[in-house]
Amino acid sequence: MPPAGAAARPRVGVLALQGDFARHVAALEALGVAAAHVALPRDLEGLEAIVLPGGESTTMLRLMAANGLRRPLEAFVRERAVLGTCAGVILLGTEAEGLPAPPLGALDVSVERNAYGRQIDSFSAPIDIPAVGGTFPGVFIRAPRLRRVAPSVEVIARRAGENGSGEPVGVRSGRVVGLCFHPELTCDLRFHSWFLTAVAGLALPAARAAAAAGPPRAETA
Ligand code: GLN
Repeated sequence: MPPAGAAARPRVGVLALQGDFARHVAALEALGVAAAHVALPRDLEGLEAIVLPGGESTTMLRLMAANGLRRPLEAFVRERAVLGTCAGVILLGTEAEGLPAPPLGALDVSVERNAYGRQIDSFSAPIDIPAVGGTFPGVFIRAPRLRRVAPSVEVIARRAGENGSGEPVGVRSGRVVGLCFHPELTCDLRFHSWFLTAVAGLALPAARAAAAAGPPRAETA
């Protein structure tokens, strides 16, 4: 049973074909928006924004085609705010190798999949994201690398520290945001909060926004 007043909450979708969509749903709900699973074209109705989660981009593209979601999703991400994390940035880019269908082409970037190696080569590293106030915990799981970023696309996140050498790991083009890492696998809500307010233009309940702006809690992933 939704709590009283739930109808007034902005609705944000999370592509729920495969991958870690449940963690994005939890982060969005913690910030006071109503998170909705998106698996079919009709699930896009009434959404203010959408999140494309981490997972396996090849599988997501296949399931998108099977569910008739490809064209409606392509249209949606050209009109509304979208956040893609890891496999999500692969889906949003213009180019990546080994996909069963072209990516959605909403972000003018070329992406190299699994660019740090296999699952065992996954790692955590600090990220510098000025928009959320500085250092953010970066969780990289079979992560992609941005090999080309068009001049029109803004770099919003870079790897920090000696080993990171400032490599771009997050980009924005208007309402379209893509990350190579997984903010949803931390307890730090600052990135989701920034996306919802600064990119999607949504108003969050004051208490939730304040909580997200506070000091980050421990990383769980
Ligand atoms: N390697 C995956 C892909 O190519 C992405 C991994 C992830 O989302 N953590 O789709």
